[in-house]
Amino acid sequence: MDKLVDSIIITKPDDWHVHFRDGEMLDAVIFDTVKQFSRAIIMPNLSEPITTTNMAKNYRHRILDSLARLKKNNQISKESSFTPLMTLYLTDNTKPEEVLNAHSSGFVFAFKLYPAASTTNSTAGVSNLFENCREVLEKLQYIGMPLLIHAELPDKNIDIFDRERFFIDKIMTPLRRDFPDIKLVFEHVSTKEGVDFVMEDTGPIAATVTPQHLIYNRNSLFSGGLNPHLYCLPILKAEEHRKAILKAVFSGSARFFLGTDSAPHIRSLKENRCGCAGCYNAYNAMALYASIFDENNSLDKLEAFASFNGPDFYGLPRNRDFFVLHRKENIIPDMLEIGKIQLIPLGAGSTINWCI
Ligand SMILES: [Zn+2]
Repeated sequence: MDKLVDSIIITKPDDWHVHFRDGEMLDAVIFDTVKQFSRAIIMPNLSEPITTTNMAKNYRHRILDSLARLKKNNQISKESSFTPLMTLYLTDNTKPEEVLNAHSSGFVFAFKLYPAASTTNSTAGVSNLFENCREVLEKLQYIGMPLLIHAELPDKNIDIFDRERFFIDKIMTPLRRDFPDIKLVFEHVSTKEGVDFVMEDTGPIAATVTPQHLIYNRNSLFSGGLNPHLYCLPILKAEEHRKAILKAVFSGSARFFLGTDSAPHIRSLKENRCGCAGCYNAYNAMALYASIFDENNSLDKLEAFASFNGPDFYGLPRNRDFFVLHRKENIIPDMLEIGKIQLIPLGAGSTINWCI
């Protein structure tokens, strides 16, 4: 039997899908991401979506201001660096010129496609991609800027567990047929069909994978009662789907990389008669990933997944500094209280074997 390692050192990771929100919530959550990641792809679905390069510029300033406050309060060291990679929210009205503005800004790295009404703050999303966004898609393809996709068909008549599968047939397949070279990121892949699409696609494509879709299946949502803190979109799926995601990630395919989809909502909005979708996993993200990789004897695959595949796909340099994980009992707190904000971290109350 292999001797158990008690720590690992990897190249500093990045998070290729995170929700920072804004205002007080931004201040409450940014530390958890910065303590683990050098860069993060910042999702644009604020209550007023970030639809233009100018809005992204202002949002980026608010993030950097929040970071400066952390440094001033000595919550992070003055030398620590973190780069927010901004994205724009695609709408039916996005102008093709906006792709050029975004590209030349130097701080916008992708567009995000939310099908209208698919998840938190997505009412401004795209109603008909092929009718309304063709020129934008052409520009993205030409410039080589990735289109990040929330791959669920938001149709009330489609079973919630099937929405990703239907999206593939209705949108992903024709999208690839019409735009063979557009760079696509299948965000938070949650099904076997999603994994297969990413594996078999003939163009430039990758998928982000969250800790919750690696660790839990849909039984966990109802284990011992209803668990609102495991409710996210895309919703957790059956075990066969989780197994397919694990297999793809541990295959070592460079098409799969880390994206937490950390999506904070205050406790009272999760434990609510109509609870919000989203898991807050940034608090312990790297420890959660290390634990599930370790349980599957795949710790040797963690560095590429967390630190190489993402920047390679985005055409950005890999980080040069390092990050240490320790094998040590780690009891995840039941709740985090940051000022007035209460958050329930993913895995609250459970014990994992790794810590940062
Ligand atoms: Zn998300």
